[in-house]
Amino acid sequence: MNQQATLLTRPDWRLELQQAFRNPNDLLEYVGLDASQFFEDSRARELFPLLVPRPFARLIKPGDANDPLLRQVLPLKQEFDDTPGYTADPLLEQGDNVAVDKNQGLLHKYQSRILIILKGGCAVNCRYCFRRHFPYQEIRFSQQELSQTIDYLTRNPQINEVILSGGDPLMASDKTLTRIIDALSNVTQLKRLRIHSRLPIVIPTRITETLVGILANTRLKTSLVLHANHANEISAELKHRLASLYKAGIHLFNQSVLLKGVNDNVDSLTELSESLFDCDVLPYYLHQLDKVSGAAHFEVSDDTAQQLWLGMNARLPGFLVPKLVREVGGENSKTAIMPDGRFK
Ligand code: SF4
Repeated sequence: MNQQATLLTRPDWRLELQQAFRNPNDLLEYVGLDASQFFEDSRARELFPLLVPRPFARLIKPGDANDPLLRQVLPLKQEFDDTPGYTADPLLEQGDNVAVDKNQGLLHKYQSRILIILKGGCAVNCRYCFRRHFPYQEIRFSQQELSQTIDYLTRNPQINEVILSGGDPLMASDKTLTRIIDALSNVTQLKRLRIHSRLPIVIPTRITETLVGILANTRLKTSLVLHANHANEISAELKHRLASLYKAGIHLFNQSVLLKGVNDNVDSLTELSESLFDCDVLPYYLHQLDKVSGAAHFEVSDDTAQQLWLGMNARLPGFLVPKLVREVGGENSKTAIMPDGRFK
């Protein structure tokens, strides 16, 4: 089959992935910016490759160097800053304390939930990502790993929820997702399936009728937790496709990361919650940044975060105000950092 024929037979989202920007200069040219103002030190891209799908790039405001979407994906020289307290593995996921067997991509951090790192890669590389130094290449989740996971579940009957994570679990093919979800639905103790994904945000066409069917046709209560950080990420296409998931009974949530220069103001955070709910998505968590090396320039202090949270609380109904939390390596739940311990 020639290359053109391969492209035509691939699902849209795979095509989008293939055509994503991988070179900062190409992305900057596309959004009408002069690369020389960013890359006095072009080594930044060596740290964690740039990867930006075109549907996401189309949402970046042309000519705006401070665009909140651009800031999330563009390598900057500050990534070389060596900031005390910032490490390669801020959540201690690469140690033996939480990984059942890191080669099988299974993490058991919380008593009643396990997390499967189904796919190492993502459709976008976010500069603030806490897994930017994660050994993705060691992750494989094939039939053998699935069988080991089912065994592990059987030996741990307190686990009632499986979280598919990554990387991005929706990078898996529909066939793989079907096989895994079918196997998990046969484990009688399991009640819930949760999928954490940013893929629909950057390539909305990942939500196909087939995917909706896969997620809807299981006895498990299924949730999709999106990872949107700014209202500008929510396109009309995404809204349209989320409606199919909602109609099929999939529970939709969102978690965001509080990022300096992206969403660190009350207007942005409020607008994000409003836009999410317009798509029937509930804001769930607002995370403080994980202190991963190379991301310190995104840090917002806890004091500022609390002020922002109070500002949102004053403007929004309670169900649209996400919990302000931080993940602490080794802790068995997220740590609430809301003012005066509100709603812990
Ligand atoms: S989509 Fe999530 S896991 Fe992937 S690079 Fe972005 S933040 Fe990291």
